[in-house]
Formats: sequence, C-alpha cells, structure tokens
Amino acid sequence: MKAKVYLAGAGPGDAELITVKGLNCLRNAEVIIYDSLINDRLLSYAKEGAEKIFVGKRAGNHTFPQEKINELLARKAGENKTVVRLKGGDPFVFGRGAEEALYLKQNNIDFEIIPGVTSAIAGAAYAGISVTHRGVSPSFHIINGHNLPDVDFETLAKLSGTLVFLMGFSKLENICSNLIKYGKQPKTPVAVVSNATYPCQKTVTGSLLDIKQKANNMKAPAIIVVGEVVNLRENIKWFENKPLFGRNILVTRPKHQNSELIQKIEAAGGNPVELPAIEIVPVKAVLPELKQYDWLVFTSINAVELFFKLLPDIRELGSAKIAVIGKSTAECIKKYHIRPDFMPDEFISEVLVKGFKDKIKRGDKILLPKAEQTRDIIPEEFKNIGAQVDELILYRTIALEINKKDLPDVDSVCFMSPSSAGSFPEPENIKAYCIGPVTAKAVGEAGFKDVITADEYTIDGLMEKLYEA
Ligand code: SAH
Repeated sequence: MKAKVYLAGAGPGDAELITVKGLNCLRNAEVIIYDSLINDRLLSYAKEGAEKIFVGKRAGNHTFPQEKINELLARKAGENKTVVRLKGGDPFVFGRGAEEALYLKQNNIDFEIIPGVTSAIAGAAYAGISVTHRGVSPSFHIINGHNLPDVDFETLAKLSGTLVFLMGFSKLENICSNLIKYGKQPKTPVAVVSNATYPCQKTVTGSLLDIKQKANNMKAPAIIVVGEVVNLRENIKWFENKPLFGRNILVTRPKHQNSELIQKIEAAGGNPVELPAIEIVPVKAVLPELKQYDWLVFTSINAVELFFKLLPDIRELGSAKIAVIGKSTAECIKKYHIRPDFMPDEFISEVLVKGFKDKIKRGDKILLPKAEQTRDIIPEEFKNIGAQVDELILYRTIALEINKKDLPDVDSVCFMSPSSAGSFPEPENIKAYCIGPVTAKAVGEAGFKDVITADEYTIDGLMEKLYEA
C-alpha cells in the first residue's frame, strides 16, 4: 500500500463533530500531525503506537513554521506511513490545507481531503444562530479577521447576509467600527461565541456599538457573528440550556474506566474534568482449577478483566455459575459472552449476599476474584451459610495523593468507589455525588459536607442526582 496524507478536519471542538470518515482515518493513522484547536480527546482514538506530533501554537511558544510542517508531512509519508494531518474545523477554511495539498502535489505525494465541520457555522449553531435564514439572511460570508487592512469593509458593509469573522476577537472593536464607518447600522446585532461547541462555550450578544464592551471578559478562540440572524438565539438557543451546561464536574476513577460517566456528563452539556484518584495495580495471580467451583462471584470490572486475562481457554470455566454486582460489571462480563446467572437488583454487597443466600447450598464452593483490600462482608456471609469461599486476589487499588493546588476548579465531584475518597484534599464548597451508600460513607469521612447519594446505584442514578442540583 502506498503512503498517503489525509488532510482532515477535526470539527470545531465537540469531539463528536468529527466526520465518520475523519474518525475512521484517525483510527488507522500511523502518524497524526495536529494543531492547537483540536479537541485532545480525539487523539485517544489513535491506535496504539501511532505517533502524535503537535505543530500548533502553545502559549509562549512560536508557531511551527508552515514550511516545516510541509516537510514533516512529506517526510512521514516518505517513510511509507499513513499520515493524518488533523486541523481544527474544516481544513480549507483558514486552515492552510490547500497550501499543504499543493506542496504534497508538487512532491508527488498522494493525498485526500476530508472536510470538517467549520467553527464558522457550527459555532453559530451551538449558540442558537443559523447563519442563513429565509427572509432574514440570504447568504453568509466567512472573513479572516486577523489582517484587517486586507478586509474590504466597504463591500462587507453593503451585504445583507451574515458576516462571520474568524481569528478576529482581538480586533473586535476595529471590526465593528469599520462596519459602522462604511454604513452598517450601528444597531446591527452581533454575537461573540468563544470556545464554541465545548462545555465551556460562552456567548455574548449586543450590537456593533456595544459588543466590545459586553465581550470584555471573553477569551479567544471566538467567532464573531454579525447580522439579524443573531436574534434567532433568543428562541433557538439550545446547547447552553442543557441540564449540566456550565457545570464543571470532577470524575475520579482510573482513567480508562470513566468513559461512560464522562460521555453522559458531556451529553448533558457539562464539563467532565478527569482526575485519576486511584490506580489499579494488578498483582501476580494464578488461576486455580476452575471446574471445582459452583459459583464465580465478580464484584468489579477490574476483577472481570484481570480474571479473563488469566483465563487461557473459556472452556476452563466448566459449569460454574456466575454472579455479578453492578450493572457495569454485568456489562463488562457480557463482552466475554457470558450471561450472569445471578445479578442482584441493588448493587451493593449486602444485597448480593441476601439474595444469593437461597441460591447457595451448604458445601458449595465459591471463587471470589477481587481486590486486595475490599470489604470482607461477602466471604464472611457466604461462609456463614456453610459455603466454602476461595479468594483470588487479582489487584490492588492505590489511592493517588491529590494536592490541593492540583485540584481543578470544579463545583462537583463524582465518586464511584470508596477507595477514591481517601486521597482527596480538604474539600471546600464542592458537592460530592456518590454512586452508593458505602461510597457516600467514605466520602463523608473524608470531610465532604455536601454528600449526595444516588437512589439507584448506577451511573444513571448518579446522573439523576446531578440534574437535580
Ligand atoms: N479551520 C478552522 C478555522 C481556523 S482559523 C475552522 O474551519 O473552524 C482559527 C479561528 O477559528 C479562531 O481564531 C476562531 O476564530 C475560530 N475557531 C476555531 N475553533 C473555535 C471554537 N471552538 N470556538 C470559537 N472559535 C473557534
């Protein structure tokens, strides 16, 4: 296969606004060369071992010169690699995508263009502004607001369509005064949308006369939308109305495990802030002969995953029945094509034990793959019934010490297990949302004053509580 460079749009910010084609490409890429304005989350779709090279601007650093980027693209393609050049928004909207394509063409390197969702349109849409609207705006115009001497304000001021300025936030005042100077009505509505499509999106509206002052506290990146369509926002503003919009919610859990909660917070418009508070450290373990057991009892995703890593052949499970605690543990075990024989309605150990009692006979052998320091109620209770319980220690959870100064600025924190509470610095004005009563108890003991416990001990139950506040 011949190497190829894909000049791909990443979309404006919201990671889901990348195209299907762009995402497929990203997943296949051997080299990803990316800019500052892309959502970092997208990089997590890269396959293992993919080389990720940042060529954008970072505070205090100079921009990577375009010639260097061109050379890098050619060099990586020359190594016969599949290269994705990932750009914010659309690669051909002020993205220098065409310059790169021309360079590749000159150097006889195969390329494809994967268009993206541009911030010029999507940023407005996420603020509830449609860039065209029947009877209001028959056209829209995307203008580079960075180099104002190049901008033909005289022509722009005469247009009846919507004007969208990119890269113009620091020149906002100048843009407005020039439009007024060439005849645009000073009352013309203007919106500034910063960090558009991200949970930290901010929108301010005003007119050509007062927007500068109203948008004083905003920060780039921002788009400036000028035209009567801005008034649509009053009625069709939607993103900022989402239940968790504007909320910064800390999610504590080992990194690879919070994706469901993170996705749900994001879908509800909140800003999930990840802070791994515990680390899962596998311990050396040897699987016993499994055929001797009547039941295998799994109480966590980690136990399931580490157990199946050790299992060389699925048939070694024999006829053992399987019990799980927790929806996510159940989901996880389904990945291994196993339908649990028993799953309690409530997801805490006490209930498992209670419901389980009449399923076990005296003398049954139970294997309990688990963490080193979990609560001992399960084996104790089973033993009380007369069952024989073997523990299989598969991992240890280590609470990561979190310094107060590392604590991001959040209003809430979600706890999914008691073990993540211990390492927390003294909480101030942070609401703690807990997945269950055992976690809530540990969180209370860690010093949290405002502790909220889910009614249903699942991620959805936790989400319900987040919506209430
Ligand atoms: N190719 C990109 C634009 C690159 S120019 C696209 O199609 O969107 C960079 C400018 O885009 C920024 O200065 C800003 O005006 C705008 N921009 C990009 N992402 C943005 C975002 N999430 N919110 C607001 N403006 C954004």
